[in-house]
Amino acid sequence: MACSILDGGMGSPKLPPRRRSPETPAHANFDQLNEKIERQNLLIQTLLMLLIEKKLIEEQEFRDWVKYVDSLDGARDGKVREPGTPITCPSCRRQSPRTAVKCIYCDHPFEPDFLVRRAPEP
Ligand SMILES: [Zn+2]
Repeated sequence: MACSILDGGMGSPKLPPRRRSPETPAHANFDQLNEKIERQNLLIQTLLMLLIEKKLIEEQEFRDWVKYVDSLDGARDGKVREPGTPITCPSCRRQSPRTAVKCIYCDHPFEPDFLVRRAPEP
């Protein structure tokens, strides 16, 4: 099994070496962000390895899905950006955040683009 699926051509950013003692509050924030990214990488890597180890997905299938999900925001750039525009509820016409899965006012369920399940393109 590959050591790191996340770094296998997925465009993961190279992080600079961690500082021993932050020189300024900005350095401290930077170090905290690095720590957070490293923890998230650990969790994602663990999930992927578990899914592959349990034979729930195959690595190539995962890579195909990454390409597909990457394309959902209109640009295959190794990132998924949240559109800044809120969702307008088709039921009450009020606006909820783009990440909402249902209207924050009337509970009308949304089907955001990123939750629409379609087969990945070959
Ligand atoms: Zn609503």
